[in-house]
Amino acid sequence: MGRRIGVMGGTFDPIHYGHLVTAEEALHQFSLDEVLFVPTGRPWMKEHDVVSPAEDRYLMTVIATASNPRFAVSRMEVDRDGPTYTVETLRSLKAELGPDTQLFFITGADAVLEIVQWKEPEELFDLAHFIAATRPGYDLASFEAHAPLAHPGITVMHIPALAISSTDIRGRVRQGRPIRYLVPEGVNSYVQKAGLYR
Ligand code: NAP
Repeated sequence: MGRRIGVMGGTFDPIHYGHLVTAEEALHQFSLDEVLFVPTGRPWMKEHDVVSPAEDRYLMTVIATASNPRFAVSRMEVDRDGPTYTVETLRSLKAELGPDTQLFFITGADAVLEIVQWKEPEELFDLAHFIAATRPGYDLASFEAHAPLAHPGITVMHIPALAISSTDIRGRVRQGRPIRYLVPEGVNSYVQKAGLYR
């Protein structure tokens, strides 16, 4: 029997409990053996946004996932030069893990909606099944009519805990408001020590 591996892609700036709940839910719903978190290196669709250094985002992801034996973190996108393309990540993982391994790429529904703009979109669906996580208030009805999310290679997963968002957390830090209980304690400490989002 081949293994079923979740590949959790995101900027994770910072990683929060919504992401961890999403990965755990995917693990359960899709009977996955493991979820591999893959923090992006240089997100190519965010060239104009300020994104924290990849090393900080990678370390926070390691801290947040350390206590779960079925979560692991990959440096592959952090260490790869140039913009981050998911197709390259999935190709490398498939080559490394062998043809019997099934890959499930988990990320936010907003990102999946733009999949047609990603590099080599037609190959993506050969490499993995896509799990699109939505947050409360997400207007799924209008998006269901949208061609990409109606694709058989995509499953939408509703995650109430995604009421937590990285954008909101960065704003809270900037305003001096607490983020305790929105992120794991170690991530909270890391954000303060590294002086992120000030
Ligand atoms: P994003 O635009 O920062 O996020 C879009 C939405 O999805 C946000 O609401 C975000 O919430 C949420 N989200 C992001 N990652 C999530 C996850 N793993 N689980 C649950 N919700 C998540 O998206 P991004 O981080 O740039 O991209 C997401 C993934 O798609 C990355 O792996 C990226 O490399 C890939 N991608 C690939 C291409 C390409 O190959 N050309 C293009 C675009 C994206 P939070 O802010 O709270 O996380």
